[in-house]
Amino acid sequence: RAKANGRGQAVEYDFELDRERQRVAELEGQLKGAINDGAIEAVFQPLVSASTGAVTGLEALARWRSSTGNISPEIFIPLAERCGLIDALGAHMLKTSIEHARNWPDLALSVNVSPIQLCNPEFAAEVISLLQELDFDPHRLTLEITEGVLITNPDQARRSIDQLKRVGIKFALDDFGCGYASIGALRQFGFDRMKIDRSLVSALDEATNGADVLRATISLATALQIPVTAEGIENSRQAAILRDAGCDQLQGYLIGKPMSARDISSRLQEEAAA
Ligand code: C2E
Ligand code: MG
Ligand code: MG
Ligand code: MG
Repeated sequence: RAKANGRGQAVEYDFELDRERQRVAELEGQLKGAINDGAIEAVFQPLVSASTGAVTGLEALARWRSSTGNISPEIFIPLAERCGLIDALGAHMLKTSIEHARNWPDLALSVNVSPIQLCNPEFAAEVISLLQELDFDPHRLTLEITEGVLITNPDQARRSIDQLKRVGIKFALDDFGCGYASIGALRQFGFDRMKIDRSLVSALDEATNGADVLRATISLATALQIPVTAEGIENSRQAAILRDAGCDQLQGYLIGKPMSARDISSRLQEEAAA
């Protein structure tokens, strides 16, 4: 908000912008420390079978409990992407979530991967050696990615995806329906699953044609034999519509919020006892 004066020379100094830059720089420094100190933790949200309601998998989500309070991944993931920390953060998330998942041998594990990680030519080899090191079956792992990378760097994305699929790792296209990803991309990159974005699910509560849009989207994926997960389910009416429309997997606060590894273990015990 620089303002030229009458002679077009002196400008009004923007203190607000300055403070903002300082806040970002501080946060950046704190994030780096948090990754190194293990202060970024994984929580796990259940993925359930639409037909039986049984938990079949868990999605790992990053949490940062900083000294000044909890910071949302919607803030610190983009920050990590901008300041070159996402590879370290992503590697840490993959490692800790796999270590926890070893306690839940019957369940699949989904981990979110940033487009920037996928475009790193070293990424695939690093994931494969981590799995070997931790003795984790690649068939249990799904990597969730959003469509951005498919557009910005399709060649490297494809190389990474192909290399990881060869060892049995699966891919889910995350947040489908809120961006540009096409049904074509699902097939072109060999996605194993599509995740319908929460915004499409919450649209079911409005008096719109949301249900028709969802049904059409799900039937296109089904025609390509790509199973569909619906995310962000908050009420049973949404769950019923999505189940009828052909989603085979459901996720959302109705079914289970993201929980600590410990709370997941007790929930699984309760279910086994029931
Ligand atoms: P996402 O992968 O699409 O994850 C789903 C988000 O929706 C999560 O937010 C989850 O807590 C939230 N959610 C799940 N069910 C419901 C519901 O019923 N209602 C509502 N209102 N929200 C629900 P979260 O944990 O804040 O994560 C936000 C995004 O940050 C994720 O979206 C993902 O894109 C990114 N993210 C989180 N952890 C990681 C990570 O380890 N690596 C990368 N690269 N990205 C991550
Ligand atoms: Mg996800
Ligand atoms: Mg999503
Ligand atoms: Mg998202």
